[in-house]
Amino acid sequence: MLSKGVFAQTTCKLIRCSSTLHSKAAPAVMTQLQSEMPQCDHRPAAYNGPSYERILETRKNHLTPNLLAHFKKPLVIHAGHMQWLYDHEGRRYLDMFGGIVTVSVGHCHPKVNQALSEQMSKLWHTTNIYMHPKIHEYAERLTAKFPGKLKAVCFVNSGSEANDLAMLLARLHTGNQDILTFRNAYHGMSPYTMGLTAHSTWRYPLPGVNNGILHVMNPDPYQGIWGGSACRDSPVQTTRSCSCPPNDCQAGVNYYNELEQTFKYSLPRGKVAAMFAESIQGVGGTVQFPKGYLKRAAELVRANGGLFVADEVQTGFGRTGDHFWGFESHDYTPDIVTMAKGIGNGFPLAAVVTTPEIAASLGMALHFNTYGGNPMASAVGISVLDVIEEEQLQRNSLEVGTYFLKCLEELQQRYELIGDVRGKGLMIGVELVSDRETRAPLAAPHVLDIWEMCKDMGVLFGRGGLHGNVLSFRPPLCISYEDVELTLSILEAVFVEHMNKRPRGWRVITSQNRGLL
Ligand code: PMP
Repeated sequence: MLSKGVFAQTTCKLIRCSSTLHSKAAPAVMTQLQSEMPQCDHRPAAYNGPSYERILETRKNHLTPNLLAHFKKPLVIHAGHMQWLYDHEGRRYLDMFGGIVTVSVGHCHPKVNQALSEQMSKLWHTTNIYMHPKIHEYAERLTAKFPGKLKAVCFVNSGSEANDLAMLLARLHTGNQDILTFRNAYHGMSPYTMGLTAHSTWRYPLPGVNNGILHVMNPDPYQGIWGGSACRDSPVQTTRSCSCPPNDCQAGVNYYNELEQTFKYSLPRGKVAAMFAESIQGVGGTVQFPKGYLKRAAELVRANGGLFVADEVQTGFGRTGDHFWGFESHDYTPDIVTMAKGIGNGFPLAAVVTTPEIAASLGMALHFNTYGGNPMASAVGISVLDVIEEEQLQRNSLEVGTYFLKCLEELQQRYELIGDVRGKGLMIGVELVSDRETRAPLAAPHVLDIWEMCKDMGVLFGRGGLHGNVLSFRPPLCISYEDVELTLSILEAVFVEHMNKRPRGWRVITSQNRGLL
């Protein structure tokens, strides 16, 4: 674990530009900010692929409609280097989303590239019917990152596959059927995991998807019915007040009691297969649970014969800064951990780690995965672990992420459309609201306008939550303070520009009107 006192910069330089930004000259400021991108010596080769129009046409005629590109005029990205992406017209963007939390150590990181090309020139693939050294080396390296008996790994290719396998393992090992997840969870899109995912927007009307799956109340201290000013393990708390004594979060207790009701009324006694939880909900909009809740939930599930599964697809590999795995800061050890995305820096690689006893149930029948842990994937996986260690990326995530969060909190004090700032390390959410009192989401056209303008100024990030109103920042872990400064300056310029466009728009909070909004 890394100490929380390590971050070097504590005061936000953001204040420096706020007076100019609050003027009507915002468009001029926006152009100036575009030219203030941090230096990057990398020069990608010029784009020589098909025209923009041709790409759009191919997309329309030959790709399935589920491929939804971001932005009104989607970007063609043809090159990447560390935290930078380049479009077909040679424009450089700061990537604050990392290919949806996937590019963990940087686009085309030279060391990972080298590990992959060395492996490619030796052996691509045999399938695991023969033994190749890389999967063994990687299994040792990856499992060394886990506490206790979590020492058996099965490699697959995507997060959905990892969660599929975790469901199978839990049901086989316990002999039980029922699985619990939270409303607002995202665990995958395969027909099996679609049932775990609890967002109407991500569900197809298929019979049987919910077979044996229950969605329980989300313990969300910002939008949920209980929540206060000290619930979260984050440098920034909600603006909701509470009178809980230190380290005794009542919201967590209330949510836990609610979970107990589900066990009492909706489940067969002592016959549960598993509960799945993300350590911080990702797609759901960076939702953090009250401290202590997951630990107690895991005990309750185990007391009822089930296993607890930590979905670390977004929160693993140092993302949350103070620990390598998100579950560690919830102070419990799961029975099964699933991981994907950041594990391979963009290479299709995922894994399930569990105890040898639980893994043994896979011996009941044949179970096969053609690509899982193939030599190329394993070489990439080892190299990603090396880079995280050598470049101290977990520490960077803690330091730069904490700085970013604190600056965002300052921004929140000045812009009423920011309802909540949350997260840890470089897993950060900014929830935009139309009303701070009711916490009602900011309507989509406004969020989209803000998002588009940020893109036009050169900063890319995602949107999460059921209403898509939570700005999601999950950059490669190598970003710098300068990159954070750029993002903050652009965000602020865009907020001002958006307000100027709307005569009855949101107001800047000043010493005169503070407390009235
Ligand atoms: N779990 C979580 C927490 C995720 O965020 C995702 C993907 N967004 C998945 C599982 C599924 O991963 P994949 O898209 O690789 O199947």
